[in-house]
Amino acid sequence: MSKSVLITGSTSGIGLGIAEVFAKNGYQIMFHGLEVNGAEIASNIGKKYKVNTAYSNANLLDSTAITQLIEETRRQLGSIDLINNAGIQYVSPIEDFPNEMYEKIIAINMNAVFYACKAAWKHMKKQKFGRIINISSVHGIRASEFKSAYVTAKHGVVGMTKVMALEGAPYNITCNAICPGYVKTPLVENQIKDQAKAHQLSEDEVIEKIMLKKQAVKEFIPMETIAETALLLAAAHATTITGTTFTLDGGWSAQ
Ligand code: NAD
Repeated sequence: MSKSVLITGSTSGIGLGIAEVFAKNGYQIMFHGLEVNGAEIASNIGKKYKVNTAYSNANLLDSTAITQLIEETRRQLGSIDLINNAGIQYVSPIEDFPNEMYEKIIAINMNAVFYACKAAWKHMKKQKFGRIINISSVHGIRASEFKSAYVTAKHGVVGMTKVMALEGAPYNITCNAICPGYVKTPLVENQIKDQAKAHQLSEDEVIEKIMLKKQAVKEFIPMETIAETALLLAAAHATTITGTTFTLDGGWSAQ
């Protein structure tokens, strides 16, 4: 069986970093995301690593579109592993937190994971093989102020990961979560701006005093560290690694 994977939100940031490493390791990839140059990214990486790629811009706010994305991946690539990576962030004190942003974050960061797993499940069960990797966050196990929606969604994903692991065990379907600290991506660049506003600090002060403050290692988490961890979790031999969280957080949660 050829190795293939759907990576949500893979036309930007961490997802793109993971996709590149998986392509380098011979995976066929269904790229996904809202970036306007998504098809071009998919095609360039396909050519670079000589692997099949496809691209979808399915909106994760729409559960029907998520089911169609899974079916499309099956049709185009055959088998399916799943990396639920897409996510958004919004930072605000609770009293000013717009309800629509709360609902959007819960929908994209948490509910979409459920819908994607649900749609992929029957295929994984049938092929007696499934690898689900959820990109949660250190905020899936720790909280920070002004991130009520994000922390709630990411904790939810960690809980969902454990349930999927239990239900998947009889079928060689594993499910794990990766919980990174800060990674320098467009999502974080935007957050630096939002945090600066919320805390009335300069952007440099936000990086120093807020973002990396809680990490013992004062460095952004390298994309490659996340991608290589995902690669290990996706391996055929990783049958017994399931239901757990991999915190790649520079020692944040050791405290
Ligand atoms: P990013 O903004 O660079 O990429 C997010 C991706 O999700 C994009 O491709 C975007 O198009 C896609 N997306 C957003 N809304 C969508 C929607 N409605 N439908 C379809 N696709 C949608 O972000 P990133 O920093 O690479 O984050 C990726 C994941 O990693 C997220 O789940 C994020 O919460 C998590 N994470 C990021 C960090 C960090 O520091 N960057 C740390 C921990 C966890």
